[in-house]
Amino acid sequence: MKQKYYVNDNAQPNGDHEVHVPTCHKFPEIYNRTYLGEFETCQEAIREAKNRHPKANGCIHCCTPCHTS
Ligand SMILES: [Zn+2]
Repeated sequence: MKQKYYVNDNAQPNGDHEVHVPTCHKFPEIYNRTYLGEFETCQEAIREAKNRHPKANGCIHCCTPCHTS
């Protein structure tokens, strides 16, 4: 099932821009996020997010398989 993914436009302290789904409790505020689109996997969402933020990374809570740092 496809999910909507968003990227946080505010970087984490380590420079990562986290990718989230709307159900995440760490979901960014509306003024801090950009809608990426609907994807089957977080890997596809990360790929799209990297077009905007080269240091995009999966959220440890909602995109655990895509969280690398
Ligand atoms: Zn999240």
